[in-house]
Amino acid sequence: MAEAVFLIRHNLKKYIRKLTGSLPLMYNLGISSVCNLRCSLCTRDNYEQQGFADVEKLKIMIGEIPTYSIVVIVDLGETFLHTGAAEIFSELKKRHIWVDVFTNGTIICEALGNVLKNIDRIRVSVDTVNADRANILRRNLNLVQLKENLIKMRTIRDHVNIPVELSFATTISSHNYMELMDIVYFLAEVRFDSIFFNLQEDWSPYGNNREGLSEPKMAATIKNELNGAIQFCHKHDIFTYQEPSVLFNGKDLYENCRWTVDEFLINWSGYMLPCCLRRDYRVFNLGNVYADGSLSKTLSSDIVKNFHKSKRYNQICKNCNKYQ
Ligand code: SF4
Ligand code: SF4
Repeated sequence: MAEAVFLIRHNLKKYIRKLTGSLPLMYNLGISSVCNLRCSLCTRDNYEQQGFADVEKLKIMIGEIPTYSIVVIVDLGETFLHTGAAEIFSELKKRHIWVDVFTNGTIICEALGNVLKNIDRIRVSVDTVNADRANILRRNLNLVQLKENLIKMRTIRDHVNIPVELSFATTISSHNYMELMDIVYFLAEVRFDSIFFNLQEDWSPYGNNREGLSEPKMAATIKNELNGAIQFCHKHDIFTYQEPSVLFNGKDLYENCRWTVDEFLINWSGYMLPCCLRRDYRVFNLGNVYADGSLSKTLSSDIVKNFHKSKRYNQICKNCNKYQ
């Protein structure tokens, strides 16, 4: 079922792209760069001033996003710390936009049913289910509380029959590669629908480092764990999404990085960034939607056009892991 939904969505995206010409297919919007966790891999403190998106400005920008687009709510911050999160999702839904929300799962907002009804997919970052490792990786994370939150989310979803897809987003790093099976057991226990596996990304401005993930011994263990995890998911009707990876194929599957053509990330303060790997707006940005006056002005600027033309060879992309 989840696979069919994915394929329909994918084709719908292509169709929208055809209709809307040069407009991006997918908009990644940040609404909060404030977080209640202190994950060891997070570079949030280095990159950004902390803050929340201004709801009124955001509403104006949302008014420019074509209906039936896809919006991913993602930032280096916790989405549900924004007190206007529910209002923002509702605004997106009014425009028939497909809403995909990232969260660390620690905050359950009031009237959760009303919030979930305006979300199409919620992705909870779950990188470890081991208490000791949680202390290292995700610091202040309380795993018992997280489990309660996930069960509550799923129970409310089932009770009021909201078609939101409940998903885990699992980043494979050198810290957790040996516990992928445990993570999918946990997913089955809380009865979520799907899981996204990504390899740890390089979050530095230009760097190129996945902490030895392609080192043969570690790569073999990851492959093993991942295969086992995927088989388990298939058996239990849990849909899996995996990042196509150089680690397992020995070739560059990201040659045509979709970000530079189909997507942008607009952070909480309005800076347009090429992708979620290059978040430091001080190093590089494609404009600021609020300072430029509108989303369409930023999208039609020379800097955006030139960035598209320079795809892969520009200063930002040339050292990207996607091209290694
Ligand atoms: S939950 Fe996300 S934003 Fe918050 S500290 Fe962890 S990685 Fe950073
Ligand atoms: S190739 Fe460029 S746009 Fe694509 S993910 Fe890498 S840095 Fe981002």
